[in-house]
Amino acid sequence: MSDIDVAIMGGGACGMFAALRAAQNPDLSIVIFEKSTEEWCNTQVSSGSLAAGGTRFQAAAGIEDSPQRHADDIIKVSRDESTRNLVEALCAVAPVYTEWLADALDYPIELGVDMPRGGQSVPRLHTDIGRQGGQFFVRRLRDAITQTPNIAFVDRTPGVGLLAEDGRVVGVRVLETTGEADVRADAVVLATDGFAANAELLAEYIPEVVDDYFSGVSTSTGDALAWAIELGASTRHMGSFLGHGLIVPGHGTRLNPSLPFRGALLVTAEGERFVDEHAHGYSSLGVYVRALPERRAFILWPSDVHEEVLHSELMRESERAGAFGRFDSVSEVCSALGINEATLTQTIDDFICRDIVSGSERKLTFPLYAARITSGILTTQGGLDVDLSGRVIRSSGGVIPGLYAGGGTAVGISGADSRGYSSGNGLLSACGLGWIIGEQLADGIRV
Ligand SMILES: Cc1cc2nc3c(=O)[nH]c(=O)nc-3n(C[C@H](O)[C@H](O)[C@H](O)COP(=O)(O)OP(=O)(O)OC[C@H]3O[C@@H](n4cnc5c(N)ncnc54)[C@H](O)[C@@H]3O)c2cc1C
Repeated sequence: MSDIDVAIMGGGACGMFAALRAAQNPDLSIVIFEKSTEEWCNTQVSSGSLAAGGTRFQAAAGIEDSPQRHADDIIKVSRDESTRNLVEALCAVAPVYTEWLADALDYPIELGVDMPRGGQSVPRLHTDIGRQGGQFFVRRLRDAITQTPNIAFVDRTPGVGLLAEDGRVVGVRVLETTGEADVRADAVVLATDGFAANAELLAEYIPEVVDDYFSGVSTSTGDALAWAIELGASTRHMGSFLGHGLIVPGHGTRLNPSLPFRGALLVTAEGERFVDEHAHGYSSLGVYVRALPERRAFILWPSDVHEEVLHSELMRESERAGAFGRFDSVSEVCSALGINEATLTQTIDDFICRDIVSGSERKLTFPLYAARITSGILTTQGGLDVDLSGRVIRSSGGVIPGLYAGGGTAVGISGADSRGYSSGNGLLSACGLGWIIGEQLADGIRV
């Protein structure tokens, strides 16, 4: 006899999407066990950019897109055909839940037509109208959870393990203030995110980022991975991660990923270009910055696009932190940031500043804005292997009955390393798999 129908471990995007969709069935009792809302989740610190192809927001902007085109773009960047079916399943539900957020949760959505990203053949990032990002997104989801009678959100109650009988998961073990307690459930959803905050696991699977700037949350310690692996779960792409090439050292803030596509110039301390500014998403750019001496580079961008790129919470945060400056001459920027002046003068002279939003091509002129940058890791993208329903696959074949996983706990859709991440893949995995799992639980499907 179960205590509840569905136990969800983790109250980020994946956990909350799974809960809200499962709760459509009023006969189900659903409990989200959350480690600590005080320490935040990655969904909360994210920019909240939702990738979806074929939405009414795109149609209104005259943009032709579809789930298939979205999926094809993702695969082109990830170079991972093995995840095609999962990618297509996620892209199919993305426009559905994006419109549901607007209609059912009154979430004010706009299409980011000014948010060009590497690998996206058309604008498809959707964001809240005020560009407040993840905090606002999470608040709206938590409000919806509070208003749903058959969901309980139990904070400061981390999961510490799974209950299993004859190879089937039958519940979870949680840590309450009074001690450990066993909760029996018909289905368990693992939504505790990845392991980027776990130094030991990072050293084992992604040693190149151990010295990178970590921009994620302290709660992503990979707890659920260990429980599922103990039960024989299979994992995939454990070396994959969402990196970043535009972290400002000392401040830890990030610059707007649109900058390289809006005409910014990227140089080394020697004042030389080291990458094609238009050829990479921000995760892939991190690979090139990471390879430089002291993982140090510089970015310079035109002052007339500055006001436009400030229209994002992360850029406003960078501004508040004093993470970039405005400079009137090449000698001023070089002496402030420590760049070789003779070479930078020549580099600027040779550089064509191309803005893919306005389509303009021109010289980079002063005054301009500039900042030091370094590489970072935001979240891991490898994890538990799942089928198209989010059921956890056993390394010996078949699935582990009663067990589902999504978001950063499950294998991502960004291939084997950080080059394969397309903007929006993180929340696509979290919201998409949460949605798919929740719908099935609502329908009463059990393994
Ligand atoms: C700085 C930053 C910016 C980003 N920007 C974007 C973006 O704009 N678009 C995009 O698509 N992706 C973005 N991402 C990636 C995206 O945020 C993540 O992929 C996504 O939020 C993961 O969702 P999740 O539900 O799996 O995990 P989370 O949102 O991290 O939620 C996991 C929850 O599980 C809880 N938990 C952990 N362990 C336990 C336990 N033992 N028991 C119970 N609960 C537990 C945590 O406290 C947390 O609340 C960004 C990431 C970062 C760090």
